[in-house]
Amino acid sequence: MSNPSLLILAGDGIGPEVMVEVRKIIDWFGAKRDLTIDVTEDLVGGAAYDKHGTPLHDDTMAKAQEVDAVLLGAVGGPAYDDLDFSIKPERGLLRLRKEMDLFANLRPAQCFDALADFSSLKKELVAGLDIMIVRELTSGSYFGEPRGIFEENGERVGINTQRYTESEIDRVARSAFELARKRDNRLCSVEKANVMESGILWREVVTKIGAEDYPDVELSHMYADNCAMQLVRNPKQFDTIVTDNLFGDILSDCAAMLTGSLGMLPSASLGVPMENGKPKAMYEPVHGSAPDIAGQGKANPCACILSFAMALRYSYDEGAEADRLEAAVEKVLADGVRTADLMQAGAAKPASTGEMGDAVIAALDASL
Ligand code: NAD
Repeated sequence: MSNPSLLILAGDGIGPEVMVEVRKIIDWFGAKRDLTIDVTEDLVGGAAYDKHGTPLHDDTMAKAQEVDAVLLGAVGGPAYDDLDFSIKPERGLLRLRKEMDLFANLRPAQCFDALADFSSLKKELVAGLDIMIVRELTSGSYFGEPRGIFEENGERVGINTQRYTESEIDRVARSAFELARKRDNRLCSVEKANVMESGILWREVVTKIGAEDYPDVELSHMYADNCAMQLVRNPKQFDTIVTDNLFGDILSDCAAMLTGSLGMLPSASLGVPMENGKPKAMYEPVHGSAPDIAGQGKANPCACILSFAMALRYSYDEGAEADRLEAAVEKVLADGVRTADLMQAGAAKPASTGEMGDAVIAALDASL
């Protein structure tokens, strides 16, 4: 049987810096756990634009379609801010999501105990928090037609359309139910059925799937505005949340910040199953290219490392090894190792990107 494959697209800014640490971890799993992953690397975003004049070359897109998983660092930076919209670094990312048909965006919001003080909420509200938000990623308001800025009655009108088909709701809901089964078996579906027809349809479809195919999963429904309020009032009431593209964008950022730092947050985007039964998948930290700290060895590599842990779990069926890697990150934090983003201003000398990566490797060694 061939080894599992991974395409690394490190991208711009701190992307390549944090990816160096992930490469160390991939090598560790090959050497110490007999888990060899065939890695290829390529360019995306500004780095691809510099070389090819496009943020994602067709050859790179073709490679992404062939591998078991893609791991992306970050794209963008001030050097590319004035480029035409069609060739901006972010277009590379959007093309990957669209052509791989990555319709389910998984955003865990997990609060490591050692970092509970970093949340903007009281420690007791967030310590032990573990939420998974599943956001629909390829439809809804960001894609619906008609869209644009038009002239109407002598003034301009800006239009976007919230549009969902039953099958689009069905597939993301099934992904969420499956995930909920692997977690605490509770799913909260979020929309605004009180004021939006797309929300009424969303609720009907999710309810039907739940009753017919997932009766064991405890299903609840919540309006998006209430969900935002509940996330800051009592976030631990949630296990898995499924919602649309627009609400998911906002609610997942809100939930993410409960956990402290952008430098800790992984994500996964999953698509339709391939021949081997695994979904097409791209993993990436939630953060961007952080041009303010790029090249200084200050970036926290944990978000990217934890994104690789999600790849172990969802693309390579290596849940136990994913647990091992997550536990290693948790141990490093519990031992007090901190990059600058995880420290109060003026505290002791922070760990560099490389030192943080090395500490995770040491914790992995200690796990054997
Ligand atoms: P950002 O996430 O890059 O940075 C926001 C703040 O968080 C900065 O102060 C940064 O130093 C800090 N930060 C982010 N990641 C960190 C890490 N791993 N360790 C320590 N500190 C970290 O967001 P931004 O500043 O709004 O955007 C910068 C560029 O990144 C822009 O060009 C933007 O378009 C792009 N961007 C890309 C993605 C992506 O590739 N998925 C996502 C968001 C933004």
